[in-house]
Amino acid sequence: MSAHLVIRNARVVTCDPARGGLGILDRGAVAITGGEVTWVGPEAERPGATREVDAGGRLVTPGLVDCHTHAIFAGDRANEFAMRAAGKTYLEIAAAGGGIGATLGPTRAASDDELLALLAGRLATAIAAGTTTIEVKSGYDLTVAGELRLLRVIARAQQRGAPRIVPTLLAHLVPPERRADRSAYVAEICDQLVPQVAADRLAASVDIYCDEGAYTLAETRAILGAAKAAGLPVRGHVGQFADLGAAELLADLAGLSADHLEQISDGGIARLAAAGVVGVMLPGAAVQLRLPVPPVDKLRAAGVALAIATDLNPGSSYAEELPLQMWLATTHFGMTVEEAWLGVTRHAAKALGLPKVGTIQAGGPADLVVWSVDDPAAVPYRYGSAARLIDTVYAGGVCQRGTA
Ligand SMILES: [Zn+2]
Repeated sequence: MSAHLVIRNARVVTCDPARGGLGILDRGAVAITGGEVTWVGPEAERPGATREVDAGGRLVTPGLVDCHTHAIFAGDRANEFAMRAAGKTYLEIAAAGGGIGATLGPTRAASDDELLALLAGRLATAIAAGTTTIEVKSGYDLTVAGELRLLRVIARAQQRGAPRIVPTLLAHLVPPERRADRSAYVAEICDQLVPQVAADRLAASVDIYCDEGAYTLAETRAILGAAKAAGLPVRGHVGQFADLGAAELLADLAGLSADHLEQISDGGIARLAAAGVVGVMLPGAAVQLRLPVPPVDKLRAAGVALAIATDLNPGSSYAEELPLQMWLATTHFGMTVEEAWLGVTRHAAKALGLPKVGTIQAGGPADLVVWSVDDPAAVPYRYGSAARLIDTVYAGGVCQRGTA
């Protein structure tokens, strides 16, 4: 049977674990029918096709996977950026009324349509930079009804097709108006919000920010326990400022990912590795907040799979483009080019619990990027504007950008 489309004369970066490393095929070809890759191999053996595209020897990679974003919010916090540039710390800015709480007002005040338009604009920027799968967290309303509303707006964005959206319920922190009765608030999250999200299938997992100024380890245990009881996988913001022991908890709960990890003990690293929890690196946020570099050498040595994400959010990383994060990961975090690619493809998909996404293999989704360069190192190397390095983006076999 002939394919709908064959991309030939390509340097195919399959990221297929069966091939090892980046699984690069020189003079390779990829066949697509419908939304799926049906064949990948040497171009001399390619199947017949309705249409062929000559990639000119350039890179064809999996569509990029951004596994950690807070892409649904209204307003911005450029004022905080200026304060930070003048030397104020994250915790000082929070004490002055900034931080996550400063995004709650504009987000609560925005209509559903306004939020959808803001989210759609960010998704368009992401897909132009090669992102075909993106995780989007709730977390900027923090009332039960408001968090459900955010997830329903995310579901509307999902209906539009590309990019593939993976929604997450995020227990971000206890909002200012509930600090006096925080245990009752945590109980609402556990007893009302999480079961409702599970019943309405509004999120693929539950995430929590376990850190100083956010949730304690005991609260994290309660909320993630409620998620597991409702049948939802869990992940966490872990050790961005302080190591509260959440890595060990996520290992106990067979979590999908532990994100940030600037502060993590050797014991915590060993537990993540043993439990197969993905470590998600967020270098843009780390640089902007002037945080120490996570212990990448130790994580690598222990065998923790490392993903890289934008952490797109209005406070610490207002950025949609993954190739810029690949540059930061390779230059500032000491990751290799191969690790940077796996971090925004296969390992990021693993953090989202999506097998075959982030790879090019038969039976996987036809999410592909045709680049204008032929060396995997050229993408992080020529940082700053990914769009000029991209020729074509296919999501589910449909051309999103470019001419092919
Ligand atoms: Zn985050």
